[in-house]
Amino acid sequence: MSYAADPDCLFCKLVRGEVPADVVHATDATFAFRDVQPQAPTHVLVVPRRHVPDVASLVAEAPQEAVALFAAAAEVARQEGLAAADGGYRMVANTGPAAQQSVFHAHVHVLGGRPMTWPPG
Ligand code: AMP
Repeated sequence: MSYAADPDCLFCKLVRGEVPADVVHATDATFAFRDVQPQAPTHVLVVPRRHVPDVASLVAEAPQEAVALFAAAAEVARQEGLAAADGGYRMVANTGPAAQQSVFHAHVHVLGGRPMTWPPG
């Protein structure tokens, strides 16, 4: 299945520069910016430039871009001083309404800078 670019998608608008973003990292395939409602001292969203509704769809459509997404998330964590050797961070990919996904453009949350609890809510 192939997903067309969605002119109404919020994260597509951020990627295109039509909505302002606090950008922290960018590659040919990925784009990363600070979440407007941070849930931790560091809270960055890493998204593929390609419009697909969730990470599972990205793996199916363009697996090499899923690898690029996770590589970008790791680089963001390193930049933010959150690499595993520095204490670590959490990556979250809410997938579907039961998981409280609210923006249906694939993304991973990179969260860190405070102790995390388990299980997540
Ligand atoms: P999710 O609920 O997993 O789909 O995550 C979507 C995230 O997008 C939420 O954490 C929102 O706070 C965040 N968000 C919504 N609008 C913006 C925006 N304009 N810039 C940055 N983050 C946003």
